[in-house]
Amino acid sequence: QHNLVANYTFRNFVEGKSNQLALAAANQVAENPGDAYNPLFLYGGVGLGKTHLMHAVGNALKESNPEARIVYLHSERFVADMVKALQLNAITDFKRYYRSVDALLIDDIQFFAKKDRSQEEFFHTFNALLEGGQQMILTCDRYPKEIDGLEERLKSRFGWGLTVAVEPPDLETRVAILMKKASQSQLELPPDAAFFIAQRIRSNVRELEGALKRVIASANFTRRAIDVDLVKESLKDLLALQDKQVSLDNIQRTVAEYYKIKVADLMSRRRSRSVARPRQVAMALAKELTNHSLPEIGDSFGGRDHTTVLHACRKIKELRETSSDIHEDYKNLLRSLTT
Ligand code: ADP
Ligand code: MG
Repeated sequence: QHNLVANYTFRNFVEGKSNQLALAAANQVAENPGDAYNPLFLYGGVGLGKTHLMHAVGNALKESNPEARIVYLHSERFVADMVKALQLNAITDFKRYYRSVDALLIDDIQFFAKKDRSQEEFFHTFNALLEGGQQMILTCDRYPKEIDGLEERLKSRFGWGLTVAVEPPDLETRVAILMKKASQSQLELPPDAAFFIAQRIRSNVRELEGALKRVIASANFTRRAIDVDLVKESLKDLLALQDKQVSLDNIQRTVAEYYKIKVADLMSRRRSRSVARPRQVAMALAKELTNHSLPEIGDSFGGRDHTTVLHACRKIKELRETSSDIHEDYKNLLRSLTT
């Protein structure tokens, strides 16, 4: 009972600039489990292929050795199982089980945050597996050091192997993914239709798949071949909803106007308070009102690092509780951006 999803394979994974490193690392691990990189730590936003890649390694390991005990589970499941084991006085069995596997794949470890007992158990399991040369693959929605409520010793151990980011796919990769998914469903997807979808759906691969499914459903339903017109019709609601979303541009213009500074100041390296504070406010608004990832938001503010954005969000959150000026500003800006 390994819980691996059969079609999350390397063969079904489309390579692009955004996932190249993660894919290469996963391939290495599949070839030299317990040896190449242990643990392999993949992080990045939702729907970017972390779970898929993790299963791809598991499936590959299973293929080269059908006897191998590969265990995949979500971190919430690890927590739940542990709690149950404690209640049933079966914690020794729990420990034995997880230490006996050949590879342990734990998804979305951000859910370990603030679960002290689980972290404790996982820490020991981690050490035992590492010692035994058993492979671990972990995923997380953010860089390990940025998980609040996670013990330092775990954060540091997560970095002992290899830590790689999975980024949102660029346009070409989005097109390639759509073409691949279409051909898997034995569907004729004309390149201009694929392009249209890829241009409009930019957030992540899961959304892309969702959009394609809609298109396919309406092609089947209307018995029409897929073309740009059909795509436009079938995605009309989805795109209308998306257009209502606030753009980064709009946020930057509105914030600059509000604070009577230039948009260019927001992108600049200037650090004086009169510019730095509005910049942080704009970043926090971008995080709250758009689906853009932290790296994308950082990029749009003159190529800043995602950690800068994260810091800005925290700072503004804190200031909104302690400074009534910032609280007012933020509320006013929110209102004018969303009404
Ligand atoms: P995450 O775990 O990062 O949230 P998933 O691995 O669940 O993302 O991916 C979401 C969906 O997108 C899955 O159906 C997965 O198969 C698909 N997907 C993601 N990246 C790719 C890719 N590069 N090629 C093909 N399919 C992909
Ligand atoms: Mg996932």
